[in-house]
Amino acid sequence: MNALAATNRNFRHAARLLGLDSKIEKSLLIPFREIKVECTIPKDDGTLVSYVGFRVQHDNARGPMKGGIRYHPEVDPDEVNALAQLMTWKTAVADIPYGGAKGGIGCNPKDLSNSELERLTRVFTQKIHDLIGIHTDVPAPDMGTNAQTMAWILDEYSKFHGHSPAIVTGKPIDLGGSLGRDAATGRGVVYATEALLAEHGKSIRDLTFVIQGFGNVGSWAAKLIHERGGRIIAVSDITGAVRNPNGIDITDLLSHKESTGNLKGFHGGEAMDSNELLVHDCDVLIPCALGGVLNRENAADVKAKFIIEAANHPTDPEADEILSKKGVIILPDIYANAGGVTVSYFEWVQNIQGFMWDEDKVNEELRRYMTRAFQNVKNMCKSHDCSLRMGAFTLGVNRVARATLLRGWEA
Ligand code: GLU
Repeated sequence: MNALAATNRNFRHAARLLGLDSKIEKSLLIPFREIKVECTIPKDDGTLVSYVGFRVQHDNARGPMKGGIRYHPEVDPDEVNALAQLMTWKTAVADIPYGGAKGGIGCNPKDLSNSELERLTRVFTQKIHDLIGIHTDVPAPDMGTNAQTMAWILDEYSKFHGHSPAIVTGKPIDLGGSLGRDAATGRGVVYATEALLAEHGKSIRDLTFVIQGFGNVGSWAAKLIHERGGRIIAVSDITGAVRNPNGIDITDLLSHKESTGNLKGFHGGEAMDSNELLVHDCDVLIPCALGGVLNRENAADVKAKFIIEAANHPTDPEADEILSKKGVIILPDIYANAGGVTVSYFEWVQNIQGFMWDEDKVNEELRRYMTRAFQNVKNMCKSHDCSLRMGAFTLGVNRVARATLLRGWEA
């Protein structure tokens, strides 16, 4: 099932649990605006190459639309639509005053030089600059993009609209980025994990962890779990996977990654088949990479007791059903990885106020937002007698539906 069909299905299920009017249901599902642009750039060797860029603005009932821009070969309109919709529910679950959006360019950033990436980002920004804005749509990093990408967008956007630091979040600190934003998604994942485990009378230091993905989210989550005494027994990235039943020394792994760029060739454990990673024996599995990795092919073999969805949409609905029947507890993406967009909100607030917070304040506020959202999700689970995923979906959808109704329908 593709990401959009899966997301729509979860949404419809939540709408049924909430007893939403079918007109509201339809209006919440259809995106506010879908943008598709052609981006042609000269490569370093002078030849021209064209890419297709997307920005889907899903809903703005609760505030400016918010979400990352992804550079990945598999970016397609359906996926961007699904991810934009997930952002709408995610910002509502986190209770930050935003709607949802997502963008992407179908390209492999690893095949592009730095100056090609800069040109592509600037052309994309030229094509969408009049459709985004500090109070309409605020991009951020996602897979394949980073603080440097945001700096180029900021610079290009500012040529048209004047200096506008709040037009993007996740930018470099020197350009108005927030302390703690780089770590925020991984840190939020850890706060979410702590909240869930506490409910079950457990703590990170008593458990074993498997982490799929060692990019921004996976590496920060791993570092913070390691610091809390959790035993990380297997980790993977696109170059391979490594396991060590005694626990991988994450500090060593981070310095290996720092010097080589990836996980390959790390000697602090034995190499393993990446496909085996998701079904490796462990207490907590944290997918931090692509969508749809848990599906009907592998769900029955998963041995983890808890799954924390640090990636967006890692579990497709068929796997969801199989895993629930097995009693696996899944902390859903729209709550578990909301730490990134929550600190994006803090960054935007600091830019608008022209006042910088220290890192402790950022982390403390992040913990407060994540803990509050967990309690809100749990309350919805109780009211609707449903899974954590449906608890999060009903929470998010209900908040957006309420805002939509309050704003009214008169033209
Ligand atoms: N790309 C991140 C996400 O999927 C962050 C979005 C943002 O900060 O706007 O939640």
